[in-house]
Amino acid sequence: MATRKLLLLPGDGIGPEAMAEVEKIIAHMNVAEGAGFVLERGLVGGSAFDAHGVAISEGDMAKAMAADAVLFGAVGGEKWAGVPYEVRPEAGLLRLRKDMELFANLRPAICYPALANSSSLRPEVVEGLDILIVRELTGGVYFGEPKTITDLGNGQKRAVDTQVYDTYEIERISAVAFELARTRRNEVCSMEKHNVMKSGVLWKEVVAATHRARFADVKLSHMLADAGGMQLVRWPKQFDVIVTDNLFGDMLSDVAAMLTGSLGMLPSASLGAPDAKTGKRKALYEPVHGSAPDIAGQGIANPIAMIASFAMCLRYSFGMVAEADRLEKAIAAVLDDGIRTADIMSDGMTKVSTGAMGDAVLAKYKALSA
Ligand code: NAD
Repeated sequence: MATRKLLLLPGDGIGPEAMAEVEKIIAHMNVAEGAGFVLERGLVGGSAFDAHGVAISEGDMAKAMAADAVLFGAVGGEKWAGVPYEVRPEAGLLRLRKDMELFANLRPAICYPALANSSSLRPEVVEGLDILIVRELTGGVYFGEPKTITDLGNGQKRAVDTQVYDTYEIERISAVAFELARTRRNEVCSMEKHNVMKSGVLWKEVVAATHRARFADVKLSHMLADAGGMQLVRWPKQFDVIVTDNLFGDMLSDVAAMLTGSLGMLPSASLGAPDAKTGKRKALYEPVHGSAPDIAGQGIANPIAMIASFAMCLRYSFGMVAEADRLEKAIAAVLDDGIRTADIMSDGMTKVSTGAMGDAVLAKYKALSA
């Protein structure tokens, strides 16, 4: 039986509540399907600070580095608002991303037909939407040096951020996008601003060269990032995979997220480079939402983003495509049945708790497996 090492880092607020629903699914897969998941658990964020005085302990970092994949809940909350900057809850996530070298952030935007009415766009624009934004996560203007604020001495200050990309960074993120496109509808749209930014000129050149050299079978198009933002809200279904840099990806993935209705529905994955020996990528899977302190502890959080993050983990870290498909179908089927947590509740639907939503998804998963 295969052994699959998973580290669970539930974190703070609703993180542990959502993670508990994934654990039910994992337990079922181990017993009924011999999936062989071996679970380790750790603390991150405020819960790690309370226990160890840091945002993630060295022991838990070592577990993350040794795991086949990390499932992350959410971190943060008022309780830790006053802790020193370097041990604030978010520092745990940043440390994981940095040490695991997670340079590729995958943000799918899927609109389940049953929720097409919750989008701010017309239902026909978003119903059945299934796009994937691949954002470069470790380079660009958020990390480039110099990064300064200088006093000019004349009552003015000057702020500088540096947008910087090397060829290898663009090559590896575009390769991820092309590879993922091959498992979908085989189309990549690259977004940059080559009309006004040198980094955009190089971005476009390197994406095109990577395409020619290794991925000529995939359909590639280029779009200016501002036009891309417009097209995302005009007719998002024209896209399959979008690849873009850290800054534009930050914004475009949030725009795409809102097409789908609720924060409680959105999964994400962050991947590193393939290991030279094993070919396996380090990977962390997490819902897009935060720790939602306003509803934590009430048993009303929507666990679907966390469950859908686990489906991504099955697909990308373990090649369990059939199981991932089945889990995603189970989520859609539960929504079709009118089962809703409070955040996605509408007239005539049945409102359920976090636990009941998790149970409903698992029951559908079992039914689809039969
Ligand atoms: P949030 O995502 O936690 O919550 C925003 C709103 O959406 C809240 O009203 C919340 O109740 C609701 N919501 C979010 N997820 C939900 C779910 N699964 N089910 C039902 N409702 C849900 O963002 P925020 O309020 O800006 O931040 C709260 C805390 O989370 C802060 O400390 C912030 O720093 C942290 N945060 C952490 C992450 C992360 O861990 N990756 C991401 C974003 C924010």
